Amino acid sequence: MTELITPGVPGRYWHPLEDGRIQCDVCPRLCKLHEGQRGLCFVRARHDDQIVLTTYGRSSGFCIDPIEKKPLNHFLPGTPVLSFGTAGCNLTCKFCQNWDISKARAFDRLQDLASPAAIAEAAVQSGCRSVAFTYNDPVIFLEYAVDVAQACRARGIKTVAVSAGYICAEPRAEFFRHMDAANIDLKGFTEHFYKALCSARPGCAAALHGFPSRLEDAGHTRNAGHHASDGARHRPGCGAPVRVHGQHARRGRAEYLLSCL
Ligand code: SF4
Repeated sequence: MTELITPGVPGRYWHPLEDGRIQCDVCPRLCKLHEGQRGLCFVRARHDDQIVLTTYGRSSGFCIDPIEKKPLNHFLPGTPVLSFGTAGCNLTCKFCQNWDISKARAFDRLQDLASPAAIAEAAVQSGCRSVAFTYNDPVIFLEYAVDVAQACRARGIKTVAVSAGYICAEPRAEFFRHMDAANIDLKGFTEHFYKALCSARPGCAAALHGFPSRLEDAGHTRNAGHHASDGARHRPGCGAPVRVHGQHARRGRAEYLLSCL
């Protein structure tokens, strides 16, 4: 789709291709864009021969939650967290609860102007000990999230990433280096689940199941956890194929849980 792109801030992690397109290298989709096109996440786009982030400094809303709702169990327990998100997503989960945000194709969802400093200030003023990037996956607005995390750290506020972890290695290292805690939200336990319901690339499930331990091993976060949402299983009417709930999926879930003990 070619359209008029609202100029955003320059994005990191992209390179030009020989055929004239530009490839975004933030997530494994590796979108290859002509001038004026947006990636699948909808918020990263090619404008003036570079990849830009079109949602920098704009939020789809704020809310004060208990930290346990993120859900994190051993991170600042009993404290409030300032939650916010933007728009768009790099997965297409058919059971998404925040579909009106993650699949927003018009930025009328983004009515709150929110500079990194303003978000840190809002957290301080509201008595929150941390800020959570949630509602939609923050890896697609990496540059904004990193700036918010730095502004928060300067004010003594921690940051929490709620993410599916669908991000390439180089941006992953930068992104999680700035986070104090992360919840890597598992969508399922089989490659088929990720492909059929989330349109993820082959190898996604295996790569993501080891994600939090790799984060902690690399020292990128001090507090990383898996949250197995396995969303479709809990949501009647989501239209998930029966086979993803079958023996194979149950075995995958059991093996994963065993590996965590
Ligand atoms: S971050 Fe967005 S534009 Fe970049 S590869 Fe992923 S879906 Fe495509």
